[in-house]
Formats: sequence, C-alpha cells, structure tokens
Amino acid sequence: MSQSDCIFCKIIRGEIPCAQLYADDHVISFMDIGPVKRGHALVVPREHHATVFDMPAELGAHVMGAAQRVGRAIMAATGAEGLNIFQNNFAAAGQVVFHVHWHLIPRFSDDGLELWSQGQYGSMDEMLALAEAIRERMD
Ligand code: AMP
Ligand code: ZN
Repeated sequence: MSQSDCIFCKIIRGEIPCAQLYADDHVISFMDIGPVKRGHALVVPREHHATVFDMPAELGAHVMGAAQRVGRAIMAATGAEGLNIFQNNFAAAGQVVFHVHWHLIPRFSDDGLELWSQGQYGSMDEMLALAEAIRERMD
C-alpha cells in the first residue's frame, strides 16, 4: 500500500533522497530533516497507514525491532544518555506527516528540552470515573 502524494511514500520509493540509517522488508529509518535534537531519526513502516490506529498491530513488532537497533546506534554515535521514542497521531497531537512514524530523539540530562508539563485531577473520583468511561469503550 502506498500513496502517490505522501512524502514518506516518496522517500520509501526512492523518489526523494534521505539520510538512510536502516531498511528491511517492513520498515525504513532515516534522519529527521528538522531535528528536535542532533541525531533525531524516524522509523517508518513501508506500508502507508495514516496513524497507529490504522496499521496492523503485528507491524509494531518490526517497528520496535528497528527502533531498538537504530536507537542503540544513535546513542552510541551521539554519546546520548537517553532516548525518547514517541509518535504523534492526528493533527491535534502534532502529526504533520500522515504516514505513521516513530521519532527517536537522543537526550542529555542537561539538554533543556521540556516535553510536557504534568497536571492533576480535581479529585480521585474524577480520575476513577474517566478510567471507567475508557474501560467501557474498549473494543
Ligand atoms: P510529525 O509531526 O510526527 O508528523 O513528524 C513529521 C516529521 O517528519 C517532522 O519531524 C519533520 O521534520 C520530518 N520530515 C518531514 N519531511 C521530511 C523529509 N523529507 N526527510 C526527513 N524528515 C522529514
Ligand atoms: Zn505514505
């Protein structure tokens, strides 16, 4: 499955260049062109699926295998002390390229990057009610 106007599909088809780090039958990994931190890379399934909710869960095993190998190499090459692995689904969560992908971002304890600020529930009951609402909707 591929999409003619998708930038990651174009990279996968070799129509657009990338700084490739890894490739196998299921996934490809390359440097992010706009790094949050030096060494920021992406792991991308070859099949075009818009978000994590659209892809077969089994593909996740291939993604994780590649993320482990590439992530270890990024840490070794940059000397990073840590590495964030995350991905964005839908525009409200910051997704810009609608071909599912994982970000690998090398981190140092003093790098100043604040990823999120945590809040709190008004009460324990509020959290428990929301947990119940989520459980009820699980398919
Ligand atoms: P997201 O916001 O999760 O959709 O992330 C999309 C990422 O793709 C951004 O971090 C971009 O810098 C990156 N990106 C977009 N175009 C390219 C490209 N041609 N080569 C490498 N990375 C890209
Ligand atoms: Zn695509």
